[in-house]
Amino acid sequence: VSVESRHRLVYPTYKMGNISVIVSSLCFIMQDAFDVLAEHFEFNENKGHCLAFMRASSVLKSLSYTIRNYRDLEGLACLGPQTKAVIQVIRHCCVIFISCSQLYFLFTSIFGVGLKTAEKWYRKGLRSLDEVKADTSLRFTKMQKAGLLYYDDIISSVSWEEAKAVGQIVKDACRRFDPDAAVVITGGFRRGKEFGHDVDFIITTPENGKEVGLLQKVLSELTYQLLYHRPHSFSHPYSIAQVCSESPTNLMSMDHFEKCFAILKLKKELVSSKQSEKDINGKDWKAIRVDLVIPPMNCYAFALLGWSGSRQFERDLRRYANVEKKMLLDNHGLYDKTTFLSAKTEEDIFAHLGLEYLDPSERNA
Ligand code: ATP
Ligand code: MN
Ligand code: MN
Repeated sequence: VSVESRHRLVYPTYKMGNISVIVSSLCFIMQDAFDVLAEHFEFNENKGHCLAFMRASSVLKSLSYTIRNYRDLEGLACLGPQTKAVIQVIRHCCVIFISCSQLYFLFTSIFGVGLKTAEKWYRKGLRSLDEVKADTSLRFTKMQKAGLLYYDDIISSVSWEEAKAVGQIVKDACRRFDPDAAVVITGGFRRGKEFGHDVDFIITTPENGKEVGLLQKVLSELTYQLLYHRPHSFSHPYSIAQVCSESPTNLMSMDHFEKCFAILKLKKELVSSKQSEKDINGKDWKAIRVDLVIPPMNCYAFALLGWSGSRQFERDLRRYANVEKKMLLDNHGLYDKTTFLSAKTEEDIFAHLGLEYLDPSERNA
C-alpha cells in the first residue's frame, strides 16, 4: 500500500478511521487514482487506457452529487471494465496509486521538459532543480533554458487581471498592423477560470488570407516584451484528405495554423492590483506563458471552439461527432463525409451537430 496522492494526503485520513472524512473523500480517492492511472498509461504510451481513466476522472468531477458509497458509482456513464476493476481494488484494499511519472513532476513542471527527459534526468540521479542546473553534462534546448530561467514566474499561476493586461499588449501589437484584427482570449480564461497556467489567444483578420504573416509582424512588435518564442508553421498545407485518413483517436493532434508558444514580460504596473509590487528579487515584472494561434477567418469558429477547451470537453465533443454523427470535427472544420460544413460562430457548429449550444463556462469537463 502506498503513500501519497499529488494533491492530498488521503490515505492517513482514511487510516484515522474518521468515518465522515472517508465518506466525503471517497470520490477524491477515486479521482486521484484515475488521474494517476491516466498519467501512468500516457507515460507508457497506452492511449486507450489513458483516455479511459481520464474520462472516468472527468465523470466523477462533473457529478452534481456527492458519492457516499460504492453503490452510487453503479450505472455511471463512461465507467468501463478497467475502471470498475480499479474501483473494486480501491474498495477492498484501500490502495492509493502512485505512478512513477509523479516522481518526475518536479522536472516536467519546467517549460520544455516532457516525461522522457524527466525520466532521463531522474535515472541519472538528479533530484532537484539546482542539481539539474549544475549538471554540466546536460544539453538544454532553448525552450528548457527559458523554462529554467523563468521557472518561478511560470509555475505561479496567471490571474485573470494579469491575463487582461497581457491581452491589452497583444491587442495593441495586432491593431498596429490591422485595426480590424480580432484578438480573443481563449483557453481556461474564456471558460471563466480565475487562474490559469498560460494565456491563450486566437488572432485573425476579417479578410481571409490577410492573416498570413501577421504572427511575424506581431512578434516583431513585441520585442521589449518577448522573452522567448518558438513559432510553428507547417510546411505542407492542410488538406481534408489528410484529416480523414487520421484515426478518430488522433483527433486531438496539433492543428495546422500558424502559432507560437511564447513567454512575455508583463510589467507589474500594468496590472491594477499589483501596481507598486516588486518580487523578492526586486523585479517589477513577471514572465507569463502565452500561446498565440492565427487561423484564417473561415476556420475562426472551429479554432475558437477547439482552443477554448477544456481538453476533456474537446475530446468528448469530437467523439460525439464521430461516433453519433459520423462526422469529423477538428480545429479546422466539421466534415460530413467529405463535405465541409461551414460555420461563422460556435453556435453554428453546435447546430450542425444537433446539440444545444453550451456557453464556454459550461465546458469545464
Ligand atoms: P490552463 O489554465 O491550464 O492554461 P487551459 O484549458 O487553458 O488551462 P491549455 O493547455 O492552455 O489549457 O489549452 C487550451 C486548449 O487549447 C485545450 O483545451 C486544447 O483543446 C487546445 N490546445 C492546446 N494545445 C494545443 C495544440 N498544440 N494543438 C491543438 N489544440 C491545442
Ligand atoms: Mn490555457
Ligand atoms: Mn495553452
